[in-house]
Amino acid sequence: MQTTKKQVLNKRFSCEQKKGSCVLCGDCCRRYSMVLHPEDERILKEKIYKSKGIIYLYPFSQFGLPFKPDEVKKFEKIAKEKKVKCSFRPLKVVIKDGKPIAIDYFLDMDACPFLVDNKCTIYENRFSVCRAFPDINLFPNDFSFDYDKDLSYEEAVKIAKNFLKNV
Ligand code: SF4
Repeated sequence: MQTTKKQVLNKRFSCEQKKGSCVLCGDCCRRYSMVLHPEDERILKEKIYKSKGIIYLYPFSQFGLPFKPDEVKKFEKIAKEKKVKCSFRPLKVVIKDGKPIAIDYFLDMDACPFLVDNKCTIYENRFSVCRAFPDINLFPNDFSFDYDKDLSYEEAVKIAKNFLKNV
């Protein structure tokens, strides 16, 4: 029988033991990322993501929750009001008309700054990925790209970072 994404994600979290109900462990609000052997990660990016036109600017091991670009400003504002540090970085980038465009962002922190005592302090305003969890397929997967296919993935990352400068 095929394992669903929900089952895979739930295996990572304490709520799996409680048949999916929230046990206030806070695990889903902390960084959870794929750790691959560097060579496997290189091959995956080179063979799969490059053909889809997706450039990941950082190693998979660094990623946490993904966010839509239009959410970044909103949550930076909330963080400022609550006087907490919030650090977002572009997660995936596509090249359009020679320029990299960030299609989503990730929270580059070990835990969400809005998590206090394992409770969400902005529950009514939480991120869309938190509302959708564990169905985190919020983002489209088909992209057109126009970067030089002869470039290695590493070179494409360098060029994209160069364009985006502050990443
Ligand atoms: S916004 Fe709330 S639910 Fe979402 S990761 Fe942060 S603490 Fe968790």
